[in-house]
Amino acid sequence: MSHHFRALIHSPSLPVPFSHGVGVSAASPSRAPRLPRARASVEKREQAMEEPGGAAALGWAARDATGVLSPYNFSRRVPRDDDVTIKILYCGICHTDLHIIKNHWGNSMYPVVPGHEIVGVVTGVGGGVTRFKPGDTVGVGYFVGSCRSCDSCGKGNENYCAGVVLTSNGVDRAHGGAATKGGFSDVIVVNEHYVLRVPDSLPLDRTAPLLCAGVTVYSPMMRHGLNEPGKHLGVVGLGGLGHVAVKVGKAFGMKVTVISTSPSKRQEAVEHLGADEFLVSRDPEQMKAATGTMDGIIDTVSAWHPITPLLALLKPLGQMVVVGVPNKPLELPVYAIVPGGKGVAGNSVGSVGDCQAMLEFAGKHGIGAEVEVIKMDYVNTAIERLEKNDVRYRFVIDVAGSSLGSATYV
Ligand SMILES: [Zn+2]
Ligand SMILES: [Zn+2]
Repeated sequence: MSHHFRALIHSPSLPVPFSHGVGVSAASPSRAPRLPRARASVEKREQAMEEPGGAAALGWAARDATGVLSPYNFSRRVPRDDDVTIKILYCGICHTDLHIIKNHWGNSMYPVVPGHEIVGVVTGVGGGVTRFKPGDTVGVGYFVGSCRSCDSCGKGNENYCAGVVLTSNGVDRAHGGAATKGGFSDVIVVNEHYVLRVPDSLPLDRTAPLLCAGVTVYSPMMRHGLNEPGKHLGVVGLGGLGHVAVKVGKAFGMKVTVISTSPSKRQEAVEHLGADEFLVSRDPEQMKAATGTMDGIIDTVSAWHPITPLLALLKPLGQMVVVGVPNKPLELPVYAIVPGGKGVAGNSVGSVGDCQAMLEFAGKHGIGAEVEVIKMDYVNTAIERLEKNDVRYRFVIDVAGSSLGSATYV
């Protein structure tokens, strides 16, 4: 159970303030990619497991829990009637990628090609594909399949399907049970149901993180009515998720307050991202003054932190949504929620429908993530910086503009 649950867990954000717990670790010593010995036989063995006849793909993969990424040749599945073949242009780097390449959850299936914040262009479609044609700009997010028959799938909540197929390190039942390979690669084949249309107005590099970080905050805001002008939204943590939550909240016409342990983020939150107010969570006076003022709170912090002071910020019947995944249980004294009839809910990414709606909304309001665009040969350094939260706010790999190198070593 816990093994399976962990496969579905998504913990993309890591704001600086809570600098302990899941996703935050001491800076790794600088290291060069290590090339495993006997590479040729490793490659041969890896390729033998692939279904023959699919498109040749070149990506970057981690071979073991060091998480060091290096070039990797593999093949995509043979496209089926309802499959779309996509040339990958950009792929964001999410904290989940970090957890998977380093086997933090104990379920990594090496070699792991990470990446689930994919933007690309359609290069081919199967005969049964109705929604896409070659040349279309598209996105692929956290998952590429689901059972299509359970209660969750029937209600359009594919992200909560027990048979969800994750984009990276998932089990691709339509490909002989092979581990799915993600967006740190040049091509991907995806069933059209899980492919998103990217509005023309959006810049592609800044759109990639929306496929995960964006929908992870947008989906619960829609579900809990935190999308109405005049309502007051609290955003805890100003990382990859939090900064998008601020933008989305403002686009809904809400009052948005960023809550952080780090006073140094005030200027960034208010002047650059457009937040209305900034609360230092370690300042009891500030927190007291804001008691009972918020309709909802999106808590993006993945490290353990006290939530009782945050729940006090909610109005009666207010809703807190947890999207970070601390590795220790959060404390929830019932007095913090019972008297005010308050709610605490979780959320994991969003459905296909949510994701498409989020992209349309982003297109209409000009919402993009704040990104640092890199080439693939910088990816190991980017992962090290991500571990130290040294990024504002998301690394995005310019996959098509990178030389992906060669998996053949002497
Ligand atoms: Zn993610
Ligand atoms: Zn299902």
